[in-house]
Amino acid sequence: MASLPPAIRNPEVKYTQIFINNEYVNSVSGKTFETINPTNKQKIIDIQEGDKADIDNAVKAAQEAFKLGSPWRTMDASKRGRLLYKLADLIERDLAILGSLETIDNGKPYKNACGDVLFAIDVIRYYAGWADKICGKTIPINGDFFCYTRHEPVGVCGQIIPWNYPFNMFILKIAPALSAGCVCVVKPAEQTPLTALYAGSLIKEAGFPPGVVNIVPGYGPTAGAALTHHLGVNKIAFTGSTEIGQIIMQASGVSNLKRTTLELGGKSPNIILSDVHLDSAVFWAHAACMENMGQCCVAGTRTFVHESIYDEFVKKSVQLANSRVVGDPFDEKTQNGPQIDAEQYNKIMELIESGKKQGAKLECGGQIHGDKGYYIQPTVFSNVSDDMRIAKEEIFGPVQQIFKFKDIDEVIKRANDTHYGLGAAVFTKDINKALTIANSIQAGTVWINCYLAVTAQAPFGGYKMSGIGREFGEYGLSQYQEVKNVVVKLDQKNS
Ligand code: ADP
Repeated sequence: MASLPPAIRNPEVKYTQIFINNEYVNSVSGKTFETINPTNKQKIIDIQEGDKADIDNAVKAAQEAFKLGSPWRTMDASKRGRLLYKLADLIERDLAILGSLETIDNGKPYKNACGDVLFAIDVIRYYAGWADKICGKTIPINGDFFCYTRHEPVGVCGQIIPWNYPFNMFILKIAPALSAGCVCVVKPAEQTPLTALYAGSLIKEAGFPPGVVNIVPGYGPTAGAALTHHLGVNKIAFTGSTEIGQIIMQASGVSNLKRTTLELGGKSPNIILSDVHLDSAVFWAHAACMENMGQCCVAGTRTFVHESIYDEFVKKSVQLANSRVVGDPFDEKTQNGPQIDAEQYNKIMELIESGKKQGAKLECGGQIHGDKGYYIQPTVFSNVSDDMRIAKEEIFGPVQQIFKFKDIDEVIKRANDTHYGLGAAVFTKDINKALTIANSIQAGTVWINCYLAVTAQAPFGGYKMSGIGREFGEYGLSQYQEVKNVVVKLDQKNS
């Protein structure tokens, strides 16, 4: 990674209000909520709390921006692309501010926060290039007709995002939507509203017309539910837990059958065969569980290791976990900051306890780290069996489960024995075995000899209860389009 700008330890928080029509406004109710720094559990600042009335205002603004004849609807597609490029440049300019705000709000190490922002910039530039390349087809249908399709923007998009990659999620939701010509109402997670709200000012500065992007911070059951039930919203894009994904799908269904894409939880298998370069496989498997403090939907939390290398693999994994630097996210050496909040922290500690009680071997960690903030030591369990809670439930913490297997058919069956299907990986030097496993695993992404290689260009999403639809790449863009078929009567067609 290129050298990063110096961090700002106490960044000024300029934007705490709801962003509608390119203006920052107070909530209709006058209510606010606190956003907390998870390194010390202290309040950072009060944020205006959006609810149904604010969602109504935001949706109205978005509908107005999307009206036929509006500046946004009559803009050249290439100009939409240029606005996105401009937004990417402004984000790049403000990298230190965005990275620092993310670090105080989320707790992730500053270098990782900046890495997330740089990735978001990649995503915007990727979709900026698409804006004037979205094409329909002419189709040679039967009869005397001329037929063509238009890929039209789906309209007002409600986008609900989680706290684990707050800025990233904000950008990866709005970038394809804007490229396709849609308008957005985004609800950031209540734990981490700061970077999305800051981005509002950059959207305005870039020159997007008022109402094209609106940002309403608030809680899920209030602001979030109002968005998913709103009859003026055409599409919902959600990233978060499977449990809330099911609620959102229901809301879309009972209201107005919104187009709905969901990116949900996972319990991703990572299969290590006997012929691997051991240190490399140990490193990737560790990163797959520990990156972002394990708060990653695609974390490789079921590490399946061939019995012939099992003991050595566990030993080396424990060494790595013990050497992982946990602490102040502004310290350059820090690899893990705190978990996001008390709820997640308690859930993780409870699952660690269940692992011990159900007979898994706690190899290291398992304790809180330090005396303030929501820190948990990197934790490794061995001798994990498939029926334990830590083998089945998403932990969303820095906890690695290492399972033993004998042969490939067995491990494929066990890897697929879950209602999730987000990611998977296989480590081996044997291309036949690698592809056999890759083709047999029910997951939206399979990595071979790597992990977490998520890019702007290639699709990402879940099989089974890990989601519906895909994000990133051309597949992600298509989720923001309606295909219209136009048929014109001709006197006579000619080939
Ligand atoms: P996590 O478990 O990672 O906190 P959630 O699925 O609970 O994730 O939350 C992800 C996002 O969904 C957040 O922005 C949250 O406010 C929102 N949310 C939670 N409940 C609802 C709901 N009932 N309707 C709409 N959005 C919701």
